[in-house]
Amino acid sequence: MLSEKNVTLIGSNAIFLGLIALLFAFPSWTPALYPAFLGVFLWTDFRRDEELQGLFLFMVAAAGFVLASRAPETGTRIALLVETAGVASAGLGLGFHRRRLARDRHKALEQLQELDSQIRDLERDLKSYQGFEENSSAQIRVRRDLTEAARSLGSTLDPQEVQLRLVHALEKRYPESRIKVLPGQPSDPLVLRAVENRGSVLVKDSRLEAGGGGGFRSAVVAPLLVLKRPFGFVRLEDDRPGVFQPSDQRTVDLYAMLARLALENIQLIQSVNDLATHDPLTQLYTHRAFQDRLQEEVLRAGRSHQPLAIIMCDVDHFKRYNDTYGHPAGDFLLKTIAGILTFQARPVDFVARYGGEEFAILLPAVERAPAVEFAGQIRARVAQEAFVFQGHRTSVTMSFGVACFPQDTTTPSQVLRVADERLYQAKRGGRNQVVG
Ligand code: GH3
Ligand code: MG
Ligand code: MG
Repeated sequence: MLSEKNVTLIGSNAIFLGLIALLFAFPSWTPALYPAFLGVFLWTDFRRDEELQGLFLFMVAAAGFVLASRAPETGTRIALLVETAGVASAGLGLGFHRRRLARDRHKALEQLQELDSQIRDLERDLKSYQGFEENSSAQIRVRRDLTEAARSLGSTLDPQEVQLRLVHALEKRYPESRIKVLPGQPSDPLVLRAVENRGSVLVKDSRLEAGGGGGFRSAVVAPLLVLKRPFGFVRLEDDRPGVFQPSDQRTVDLYAMLARLALENIQLIQSVNDLATHDPLTQLYTHRAFQDRLQEEVLRAGRSHQPLAIIMCDVDHFKRYNDTYGHPAGDFLLKTIAGILTFQARPVDFVARYGGEEFAILLPAVERAPAVEFAGQIRARVAQEAFVFQGHRTSVTMSFGVACFPQDTTTPSQVLRVADERLYQAKRGGRNQVVG
């Protein structure tokens, strides 16, 4: 096949030669035929061959001048010269116009390309902004959920409730997964891995992992450490593979951390509370806790028409005991007596260290007589106890005062005063006895 350029070349030459032949055959038709050379120009223009146009215009102009110089008549010569100038200028004009159009088109194409690349850049920017926006809104969602969870976990003082709320918060985030809090350190393969890792474990697809299986495809297990001691594990599992990603592992870690903070807080509050209500030496309730409980028990006894007995007791000659065996022996004695009192008392009774070596016991729903009998049992038990401290066998006795509500008095302060007076009477009566 001929190339486009060759078609134009052959075509324009054929027209050119045809016209020359006609000019030779019919010289008198020259003025009429000569403008037909413009057809060759238009042919090359139509074929977009600009190189040929320049050559052709030169040849046509040259031919025009030759024909004009040979024309017999002045009129014909002038006409041919005018035609030559017309054909040449029309050709030149068309050429210039074409070139300007081509330049404009080229410029427009360049602008179009630039606009195209700008659009592509903008589309890329838009895509990255959309990604950023999605990422930011996901982060905002996580933070909002975490704040909500922190508020919910931090607003209870019940460790059981913290576990339930943790499960609830995670269920909200992963509604289609199974979520559990496993107490202690259960024999679970993932829990074992979490213990070995000293951190959470992520299973993207259990079938792709050695030792996988176990009725789930994806899982996350995070330890719940409370005051650095293992409290339990939070475990998420799902039947679909690839549900949990490293970002979910981090999220579960954050939830576990919030639960840990809430549980630690509860333990700290409990220990502060214990410090306020328990005596550090004997672990019995303090004087203050006893006063509060006495008020409650008197009110309850009044409401339920039940009796309430109170026993006040004091170690006899404890100062002498301290002086003889030393203060640490005295401390040991107090601890042992506290143990005896707690052992003898019922679970509903309330045993407190009232003062230095003075104890108080509240006995709900107990009349005076059985309370006196109970005090007698303690007295006998203490009196026969051998308190062995650093190889020394020692013994002590205790005195008891018993009062009963409402038999003796009707107010908490009075019942206490009566018990105290009776204890004093027991002391004066020779100690090692019960007055009730
Ligand atoms: P009484 O038979 O009249 O009760 O005589 P007492 O010596 O037991 O009574 P007193 O009130 O004179 O002495 C109480 C002593 O208890 C004085 C104090 O040093 C001692 N004491 C108080 N608290 C403690 C303690 O926590 N540890 C020890 N080892 N001694 C204590
Ligand atoms: Mg004493
Ligand atoms: Mg005393």
